[in-house]
Amino acid sequence: MANNTTQDHVNGMDRPRIMMIYTGGTIGMKENPLTHALEPVDFEHLLDNVPKLKMLDFHIDSFQFERPIDSSAMNPNHWVEIAKVIEQNYDSYDGFVVLHGTDTMAYTASALSFMLENLDKPVIITGSQLPIGEVRTDGEENLITALQIAAARDRNNEHTIREVAILFENYLWRGNRSTKRSADNFNAFKSNNYPELAKIGLGITFNREALWRGKFANAPLKVHYNMDCNVLVMDLFPGIREEMVRHMLSTPGIKAVVLKTFGAGNGPSDPWFIDAIRETVEKGIVVVNITQCTNGSVHPYRYMTGMELAQCGVVSGHDLTSEAAITKLMYLLGRGMTADEVKNYMEYSLCGEMSS
Ligand code: ASP
Repeated sequence: MANNTTQDHVNGMDRPRIMMIYTGGTIGMKENPLTHALEPVDFEHLLDNVPKLKMLDFHIDSFQFERPIDSSAMNPNHWVEIAKVIEQNYDSYDGFVVLHGTDTMAYTASALSFMLENLDKPVIITGSQLPIGEVRTDGEENLITALQIAAARDRNNEHTIREVAILFENYLWRGNRSTKRSADNFNAFKSNNYPELAKIGLGITFNREALWRGKFANAPLKVHYNMDCNVLVMDLFPGIREEMVRHMLSTPGIKAVVLKTFGAGNGPSDPWFIDAIRETVEKGIVVVNITQCTNGSVHPYRYMTGMELAQCGVVSGHDLTSEAAITKLMYLLGRGMTADEVKNYMEYSLCGEMSS
């Protein structure tokens, strides 16, 4: 990683102080002249394309990954890298803007929301669908709006946003409620089970009732770096074979399974399927039921097929996104919890990730 100062601070303390963390993604990419494929380039290139940044009266410092990456290459070590920069600079900045590829942005946002316990400053993640050097880029506007949101304060001078959020085009979404919904549209993200935190139009209109307010005011930031990757995702489909299910569930080392079910949390009622799930739970593996639907929640007792899963000891993931379910399990397991403790915490919202 390299650390740069992009604007010297003159009256430093009076101006919002923002730390930008550049990880890569389309926003900072350029076309390779030989292959014509987009590749990440460095932060200086990105800044050269946004002269308007100087119009913001902010003190902006930046940090970039040693090698900026396409976010498809993200893994928990990169989340740790981002979280470290935030922890090391937490007291010196008003807010953080993370520039990130869109492909796995919702995973990073969800993971950071769990890793950064007691966060009470803005961590705004953004990127773009078109590289910042292109004429019709959405990157410039996203970057500037993200910085303005990271600097926003209420009338009582407190930070307006005190959570990890994704800013993209016309909306600010809670990070651990977001999903990438379009590979083409400028409005690439959506939170299907939670309202927007802000609407971006001529101005930035915050949806104050939807903003996260931590349960423990004034508690210090505590960063959890251990994420346990022994989590498996199993997406059901009509016709899924017993051998496939048993093969996946016998993956050595797995500690948790995110079971993506139909509708309100239903799965096949074949005895082999119920047996395979029951045996998995009995081995001490946590199985969490989330729905494949983009909107709505698991209701395990609405149908017989969902009830059978609940009776096997499958935990309801309520209206968690897939990204939040996976990263929440990684976080809880990373904290060394037993299967029963993990099951317990999966039923509670830790930082606004689910509705009930
Ligand atoms: N593949 C890119 C990435 O996730 C896509 C993007 O940034 O929009 O890094």
